[in-house]
Amino acid sequence: MRRLLTPVVLALTAGLAAASAPGAAVPKVPQLIFPVVGKATYFDDFGAARGQGGHQGNDLMTTWRSPAVAVEAGKVKFHTTSARAGCMLYLYGASGTTYLYIHLNNDLTAKNDNKGKCVAGGSYWNGLKDGARVAAGQPIAYNGNSGDADQAGYHLHFEVHPAGGAAVSPFAYLNRAKKLLFPVQPDANFTAALRGNVVKADGVARSLTLMVDRLQSWPGGLRITDLKRTVQLSVPPSVVISNPLGALIASAQLAKLKKGQPAVAWTAIAPATIEAALGTPLMLSTERLVIG
Ligand SMILES: [Zn+2]
Repeated sequence: MRRLLTPVVLALTAGLAAASAPGAAVPKVPQLIFPVVGKATYFDDFGAARGQGGHQGNDLMTTWRSPAVAVEAGKVKFHTTSARAGCMLYLYGASGTTYLYIHLNNDLTAKNDNKGKCVAGGSYWNGLKDGARVAAGQPIAYNGNSGDADQAGYHLHFEVHPAGGAAVSPFAYLNRAKKLLFPVQPDANFTAALRGNVVKADGVARSLTLMVDRLQSWPGGLRITDLKRTVQLSVPPSVVISNPLGALIASAQLAKLKKGQPAVAWTAIAPATIEAALGTPLMLSTERLVIG
């Protein structure tokens, strides 16, 4: 972890210098964490004609109650008094950028009942407090269709306001954003099951690269489908490798796994850090591996 500290400190110092220099330009929007964990489709609908004028953000079509996460570290503010926005949230990012999360969940069931309230556990993440400081990637809300999105599909209306000023199109920032495999939980552990196919097995480095198609993570049992992303896992010698019938395969046989073989990897319980949630190579350690 020590080697990670230096760049962080440098980045913070650079940020302060830019903010305090006279005549400094508006601070830049940083590279974001993608605001939704799981399925999200979007296009650049910023500026599209709407009843109340131009569309001020991008709509990310999601599944009901999928997690919305902090795109950067910052402070949250709940906002519940706009009939159009429904349940919404401001994220005041550490960079000076303000982000709006609109149409958060207001349903108690998947039947669009509108019986939920704009409260933590309903629209805001369970246990989250108004005014709380959050880490990048920490879950802050559940996606839904409150406000004037009630007859639209579940979606997150996401806005980006550099330096707290006028909205700009989030599209380029979304395209460049880093996607999480599961939400970051600064003080909690996670475990995940990754289902896909072998891309590469390295018996010397004890690593396994999977093209992951589906993923489920705990706590929460969050399911992500259509992931289509490679993840490089570490495979300690102690790992139990088996076939679907339960027959054990010697761990030393790791290198003999063939490209394209179906595989399910369960990860060892570990802290849900940003490095783990991003699927950083070798940050996820395998505990059990079933090869099809
Ligand atoms: Zn919208």
